Amino acid sequence: QLRRAQPSAIPQYSAIARLLSTLAVLEQRDGKLNVASLAAVTAGAKLGGSVTAFVAGSGVKAVADEAAKAKGIEKVIYVENSAYDRGLPENFAPLLVENIKKGGYTHVFAGHSAFGKNLMPRVAALMDTQQISDITHIESEDTFVRPIYAGNAILTVQSSDGTKIITVRGTAFPAPETEGGSAAVEEGVDPKAESTTEWVSEDLAKSDRPDLGSADKVVSGGRGLKSKEEFDRLMPPLADALGAAIGASRAAVDSGFADNSLQVGQTGKNVAPQLYLCAGISGAIQHLAGMKDSKVIAAINKDGDAPIFQVADVGLVGDLFEKVPELTEKLKSQ
Ligand code: FAD
Repeated sequence: QLRRAQPSAIPQYSAIARLLSTLAVLEQRDGKLNVASLAAVTAGAKLGGSVTAFVAGSGVKAVADEAAKAKGIEKVIYVENSAYDRGLPENFAPLLVENIKKGGYTHVFAGHSAFGKNLMPRVAALMDTQQISDITHIESEDTFVRPIYAGNAILTVQSSDGTKIITVRGTAFPAPETEGGSAAVEEGVDPKAESTTEWVSEDLAKSDRPDLGSADKVVSGGRGLKSKEEFDRLMPPLADALGAAIGASRAAVDSGFADNSLQVGQTGKNVAPQLYLCAGISGAIQHLAGMKDSKVIAAINKDGDAPIFQVADVGLVGDLFEKVPELTEKLKSQ
């Protein structure tokens, strides 16, 4: 089942919902809210009960004020301390545990991002509970659905833990509206735990293009591009003509055509844009795992039997070295 229909939202039983309380962990960088991390709020709202958001780092009062305007949040808790910048999990986990214990939440949600994947297992270990990863659906307050084997099977997990520690797939829980809410903003507890870990530096790939993880349109290139020179010659103009982010298959990344941060798929990024246009990508199951939820999938491939055409809404059988420049020109002249 490559493009599984989303089950309907869980029934909201008000008596149960009253007992439920979610802590949604938000991400920020340099005092700017990562809107995609509001997926945790959407998951809490789907569950029912109250939703409290949590953010920590330096200058996060402003982030908390911004988050307070998002729909579906009752309260935002913030902790101002530079030790929590960059979401270092060794520092962040004990902080989160203190705040979970203080608030007595039944559920803690974070995005299934690098931050969430790094943080939540540590939080679960400190609380002696089982972590549940990458959920795409909430069946009830103790039962959650998640894809396994690169989306080839769907697992339903039931948990009896008192506090459920969960990461959520952003594409399955789109961020709520960021205006119109009026949550209370409150300071949280800071255990100021001793830490042997400190932030030293980072080396980030910089790009003026839309962020791959949250872009509306993505153009993606595969091994069919043949070389880095051809990838750089054909894909950026196509992306610019559409105002799209650039992605790549693992084969393209492994062959050095594109940066590692552009990989889409099971071991890369999960994307669900309005348009996913790929060229020279065969459609291996591990690639589909990262893009099959896209609204419209368009594929250019010279092999009419390529598996990508099984999931594509629009397919063009042809040589990408002809078709991509032709398409780029047509888009530019519109
Ligand atoms: P290929 O499979 O080689 O396909 C190239 C395609 O280009 C072919 O369909 C061919 O017909 C077409 N083509 C060639 N020349 C032209 C031309 N001139 N014009 C038009 N079409 C042309 N892959 C990912 O992408 N993301 C992942 O996250 C990922 N994770 C993995 C995890 C594991 C554990 C494993 C085992 C594999 C993973 N893979 C992943 C690899 C995956 O199995 C495939 O090998 C990979 O996706 C293939 O990339 P590709 O489609 O670019 O290359």
